[in-house]
Amino acid sequence: MYDVLVVGAGPAGSSLAGSLAANGHSIAVIEKQPQSGWKTACTGIVSQECRERFNIPNTSILRELSSASLFSPSGVVLNIARPETQAVMLDRTIFDASLARSAAGRGAEYFYNTAAVSFENNSDGITTHAISGGKPRSFTSRSIVLACGYNPSILQAAGLGTFSDFAMGVQAEIPGSLDRVNVFFGRDTAPDFFAWAAPSRPGYVRGGLLAREHSAVLLQSFIGRLRTEGKIDREKAEVSFGAIPLHSLKKTYGHRVLAVGDAAGQVKPVTGGGIYFGMLCAELAAQTLHSALQDDNLSSRRLAGYERAWRKSIGSELQTGYWARRIFQRLSDKRMDAIFNTMKSSGIDRAILENKELSFDRHGALALALVGNSILSRLMGGKRAGAHLTEKVK
Ligand SMILES: Cc1cc2nc3c(=O)[nH]c(=O)nc-3n(C[C@H](O)[C@H](O)[C@H](O)COP(=O)(O)OP(=O)(O)OC[C@H]3O[C@@H](n4cnc5c(N)ncnc54)[C@H](O)[C@@H]3O)c2cc1C
Repeated sequence: MYDVLVVGAGPAGSSLAGSLAANGHSIAVIEKQPQSGWKTACTGIVSQECRERFNIPNTSILRELSSASLFSPSGVVLNIARPETQAVMLDRTIFDASLARSAAGRGAEYFYNTAAVSFENNSDGITTHAISGGKPRSFTSRSIVLACGYNPSILQAAGLGTFSDFAMGVQAEIPGSLDRVNVFFGRDTAPDFFAWAAPSRPGYVRGGLLAREHSAVLLQSFIGRLRTEGKIDREKAEVSFGAIPLHSLKKTYGHRVLAVGDAAGQVKPVTGGGIYFGMLCAELAAQTLHSALQDDNLSSRRLAGYERAWRKSIGSELQTGYWARRIFQRLSDKRMDAIFNTMKSSGIDRAILENKELSFDRHGALALALVGNSILSRLMGGKRAGAHLTEKVK
């Protein structure tokens, strides 16, 4: 019997598996794909803070990023440029494989082409029923960790409920050239969300968007726009998709079970980025499990400590980000243009966007201030817009 069975060998699953294996626990990781990072739909942008915190090797990094241009619906542009690297783009195939190799090197056992299907509670553990290489296979463990990304059926099978809100992320890598990240807003481009185009490996651009529906059609039209603007060289590209939870699960633990990463909804609601927060929470999950395994107490009550710890770390950021997202969804293109114009004409754009306090990862409050201010200024006839924003950045 394993101490822990981890479902999913993405960044959250493999970093947790590595930490627990390093503490001497017996770990099995099952992954439905033939290898870690297999055809992952992800642009792979993480903050410099994440790179340093997890000591991400340069071999996993495609590019360093320090500047971006934000485009309003009617084409008003806000430029952000900083001398230091703000973010890096990962090669998810190499990154996920290197995390898995490191966990395996510490003793975790990996089973690829193996998909968890259902779980059964026994008196001394959990049996996970899986399909491995086309055949049924069972694993027994003292506890399980769901690190399976957005997978409502697996969460429900383990008794953790499901997500109240999600979006589809869709992207393609296309030959082209860009010197910075471009972010586009507007109801025609990405209703309720945004679209992006970022330089990736030399001679290529990753373009994508978030949407609640019609994501493939929207992506095709966005790719057409990038081609017209001369940012990419052709329109034909392989498209990849993935669902992104926008709200965390109500409860991320149960008797002998925890959920981490996208499986728990530990994703920034403003941008849909989940790599960094997922890995931070995986670390907290590994700490809770390590002591619970040592004390042989894997009760729901004991594992609740994990949820308290992660909510303390990123809970308020997720909550403010979610409110910012809800308000953002109600903004018309006209209102969004007005925000861009106000920021540009008053010089607030530079003050905010170049403010050192503006964190790549913890930006929910600023986003809420920006979109919230727009609602407020509408109520007050537009008078307070500049004042409120300036107060925020001081
Ligand atoms: C288009 C797009 C662009 C994105 N861009 C960014 C970005 O730039 N930056 C960022 O931070 N985030 C980005 N994200 C989000 C990011 O991809 C996720 O937050 C991140 O991958 C979550 O990591 P994870 O380990 O929790 O889950 P995942 O990476 O999804 O890993 C889960 C693993 O579990 C496996 N699995 C699922 N079900 C089972 C099962 N039943 N049995 C066994 N294995 C199973 C899957 O095959 C997968 O390998 C993007 C997402 C999309 C869709």
